[in-house]
Amino acid sequence: MPTDVYIAIGSNIGDSMTIVDSAINALGQMGGCELSGRSSLYRSEAVSDIEQDDYINAVAKIKTRLEPMALLLELQAIEHAFYRRREQEQRWAPRTLDLDIILFGNRHINDSHLTLPHPEFSTRLFVLEPMFEIDGDQFIPGYGSLRYLIDHANPIEMVKLDDYDG
Ligand code: ATP
Ligand code: CA
Ligand code: CA
Repeated sequence: MPTDVYIAIGSNIGDSMTIVDSAINALGQMGGCELSGRSSLYRSEAVSDIEQDDYINAVAKIKTRLEPMALLLELQAIEHAFYRRREQEQRWAPRTLDLDIILFGNRHINDSHLTLPHPEFSTRLFVLEPMFEIDGDQFIPGYGSLRYLIDHANPIEMVKLDDYDG
């Protein structure tokens, strides 16, 4: 049976709105996967000691027949496809796309390449709010309700951009 997976998407370099939308489309094109939901785009302040631009964030939901590690490799391939720049001198641009697996069904994994659920998701508003938009309140075993997590997440400045109307 396919597994429901939430994937968090972020970008703060380049044409981030287009990058995030294109990445969501790419998620639906992965072998053994089907896009089953997506959030609007959100703009959030970067949480970092380093001064950097705001992020564009979203969450996508897919159904997949892949195993978690195989999915991670697919996501990394998509990240790399978006990192690629055509300029001759700069072979690789700075990071333009981040794809994190948030929940993979109810799987728990803790190895050197993959931690599931994502270790930070439960405090990150830029992950929780878009998840809420897709599926509304829900109970996440081991964490509590999405509403509770949102109410207790680290406060950050975040705005929902125009509703996704596709
Ligand atoms: P954070 O995980 O705090 O959001 P990050 O996304 O900036 O940080 P990356 O540099 O993109 O971190 O990823 C570092 C490594 O995290 C990846 O190479 C990957 O092997 C590992 N990783 C562990 N768990 C996950 C997960 N659930 N989803 C994506 N990558 C993961
Ligand atoms: Ca991340
Ligand atoms: Ca990542």
